[in-house]
Amino acid sequence: MAPRGEGASGAGSLAGLSTKEIESLVDPPYRARQVFRWVHVRGAVSYEAMTDVPKALREALAARLPVRSSRVIETHRSEDGTVKLLVGLSDGERVECVLIPEGDRRTACISTQVGCGVGCVFCASGAKGVVRNLEAFEIVEQVLWLRDAAAPADGPSGPQARLTNIVVMGMGEPLHNVANLVRALRIVQDPEGIDLGSRRITVSTSGPLRGFEELLASGLRVNLAISLHAPTDEMRRRLVPRGGTGTVADLLDMARRWFETTGRDVTFEYVLLGGINDRDEDARALARLAGPHRNVNLIPMNPVSFAPDLKSPAPERVARFEEILRKAGVVVHARRQRGDDVAAACGQLRLSRAP
Ligand code: SAH
Ligand code: SF4
Repeated sequence: MAPRGEGASGAGSLAGLSTKEIESLVDPPYRARQVFRWVHVRGAVSYEAMTDVPKALREALAARLPVRSSRVIETHRSEDGTVKLLVGLSDGERVECVLIPEGDRRTACISTQVGCGVGCVFCASGAKGVVRNLEAFEIVEQVLWLRDAAAPADGPSGPQARLTNIVVMGMGEPLHNVANLVRALRIVQDPEGIDLGSRRITVSTSGPLRGFEELLASGLRVNLAISLHAPTDEMRRRLVPRGGTGTVADLLDMARRWFETTGRDVTFEYVLLGGINDRDEDARALARLAGPHRNVNLIPMNPVSFAPDLKSPAPERVARFEEILRKAGVVVHARRQRGDDVAAACGQLRLSRAP
């Protein structure tokens, strides 16, 4: 498959343009920054909203490209405050993104592909393979839609709530779409815009080696989470069939290199599947691999309708698994499930609406 837009420009919407790129369309440069701030700080969804920008300029821009290319098709608000959006893209494809409020944090969970080619056996995003890569502007727009969802009710051009974190843990394998991912993240990091520092952004990956090299070369220094899910090569091949990585040892090596280059610790993610990777011996093997002081996130599996045989372990099993790791000195977090009532594990909503 030739992913649409690999390395392509982001010129599908104003939201996908950096200040520099807007400067090439708009004169004088301060006007470009004004327009950029309308999109990324004040949350304008239309040119009409940009009342202090000259009308002729607004009309000229409107003739070239929309402010945002996508639209929100469905909004699901969970009782725990989680908001899940189904976003319609200009070609009719759909992706999901989720806002997760927790105390003072407002975390945006965003997608990087329509579908996913890795095919993890427990994941709704990968159940039907990959359709295409998202463009940078489509990635940025999810962040903007989620911020709107977090905003107070006085409308899109009213004061915007601040997002505090971004996790790239939605649909798709981010390291199969590095160019667009990096482009999008640089836009949301712009201090004149959404202004999210690298420490507030986490990219989660199944660990394709080539994509990892590209990410390293890009200079982006975000937090990295590696989806391990298995302590042995044989089990990992079964659970992550097209991971694009040689071995578990390669993933450990990847974590080491990320730490050495960026100074950032890597978190390993481990989805717990009842009766499959949740035995004591799996916990002990994982503890040996990770070693003391490493971060491991345990995620009890969210049930998915397409794989009825796979289930989360009982809570006692999760607690026991966690205890073995903790006793071995691993820094372990057992993730609380959130937004179950809105199918918050990404991919489920799109799958359930599939024709
Ligand atoms: N493709 C990347 C990022 C998106 S998936 C990756 O795999 O890391 C983000 C996380 O959600 C991964 O750790 C993945 O294993 C987890 N996940 C996917 N399906 C799940 C499910 N049914 N239950 C719990 N976690 C799931
Ligand atoms: Fe793709 Fe991540 Fe889902 Fe695996 S868990 S199929 S890599 S989105």
